[in-house]
Amino acid sequence: MRGSLKIEAIVLRSLRYGEADRILHLYTPQRGRMSAIAKGVRRAKSRFGGRLEPFFRLDLVLYEGRSDLLTVTAAATLDGHPRLREHAGALDIASRACDAVGRVFADGEPHQGVYHLLANQLALLDRRPERATHATALAFRLKLLLAAGFAPQLSACAGCGATEHLAGFSGAAGGVVCTACEASAFPLGQDAHDFLVAALGRPLAEAPDAPPRALAQAERAILATLEHHAHLRLAPVA
Ligand SMILES: [Zn+2]
Repeated sequence: MRGSLKIEAIVLRSLRYGEADRILHLYTPQRGRMSAIAKGVRRAKSRFGGRLEPFFRLDLVLYEGRSDLLTVTAAATLDGHPRLREHAGALDIASRACDAVGRVFADGEPHQGVYHLLANQLALLDRRPERATHATALAFRLKLLLAAGFAPQLSACAGCGATEHLAGFSGAAGGVVCTACEASAFPLGQDAHDFLVAALGRPLAEAPDAPPRALAQAERAILATLEHHAHLRLAPVA
């Protein structure tokens, strides 16, 4: 595997390391999450400029040696998303999106769909920072579940298959449940259920909105699904 690797990547995190270096946490279409070191990047005359920062989508050349950590040898900007950085709400939702991707997946677990989803979310927040809403953040998390293969069952009771009287949600059962199966469930109203179905079915830029109570229930369903499948607790968005 030794040699140069040319790869597109989104910077999830950028950590100071030593006197002038940075460790980058990246998400890539071909290899999923990976880490790389950029040497001398914090010096004023670094050839990398300011482009090895979170939310940058880059064309990278990495040197792969014996260590697990690859070394950045070249970086070209595909999209720096400058506008989302000027909007506190967009910045917050972009940070949470990168954090969720970095935590839901381990190194070397590639999901092309996750890469495109994250690229779309960052592009949307950059193009339309006013879309930095609770609903957009939840739609992203829901689509992340889908891309990771954890999408909750929404069309019929996850316990018995009934298609009526779906009034609850159970992370353990894997989706919506009917009134007869709701032992371990919490209530999920019709408007929250409708939000989940519409958010999964539409592009991110067309994510539906819903009343705050419905979004809170939808969020609880998303967090319960993540916790059950990925044993991961993410902080609520709102
Ligand atoms: Zn049932």
